[in-house]
Amino acid sequence: MISIAIDGPSGAGKSTISRTVAGAFGYLYVDTGALYRTIALYVLRHHCDPKNAEQVQALLPELKVDMGYQDGVQQMFLQGENVTDLIRTPEVSMAASGVSAHSCVRAYLLELQRRLARENNVIMDGRDIGTVVLPDADVKIFLTASAAVRAKRRFKELIAKGEDTTFEKVLADVEKRDYADTHRELSPLKQAEDAIVADTSELTFAESIALIQKIITDHLPKTSV
Ligand code: C5P
Repeated sequence: MISIAIDGPSGAGKSTISRTVAGAFGYLYVDTGALYRTIALYVLRHHCDPKNAEQVQALLPELKVDMGYQDGVQQMFLQGENVTDLIRTPEVSMAASGVSAHSCVRAYLLELQRRLARENNVIMDGRDIGTVVLPDADVKIFLTASAAVRAKRRFKELIAKGEDTTFEKVLADVEKRDYADTHRELSPLKQAEDAIVADTSELTFAESIALIQKIITDHLPKTSV
């Protein structure tokens, strides 16, 4: 099986780019952030503090997170309910960053992610895929863009969805989440030593796709291309 790890900060375009490239290669696309988001929604629904490890751990035995695909689009299920759209709010984003810092949560999701990669050719995106989840991935890419560019893209998305927000608030959220993700003790967001860096700050979507496809074809073992 082939596995491609794409890590990077929030808003770098990882999910859209990874999904499109996975489609082109015929690989399964796994958005691991959605797993953390689903747990975050569960924690918020129980009125617990996402940053409190004990409170979060106490919720895990009853938690049921499932993943499926509908027309090639990853769907998240929480206790059987499809929560795919509900996990995309700024509140859940921030809570996901909180729950993802706990070892109990990372351990809970580790085997699920590894199993997906054992059973399928995957493009998996996240923060620690190349460093922790799939250290032997065939290709590792660190996809990034400047904080201002990422906030601008995110701001446009939120406005299009009808959210009431400002660019300054979105930028502050991006910077806060970057800080939390890169400074946490467990599996912090960091570039794997053998990852190839792709900076999309100055690139259009189409150029970003072309760049990632080229990196993958150039680095996959020749027998598998
Ligand atoms: O990628 P996305 O923004 O959906 O991720 C939500 C949060 O989940 C991130 O801020 C990060 O804290 C966490 N996460 C993680 N490890 C991953 C994927 C996401 O810690 N592999």
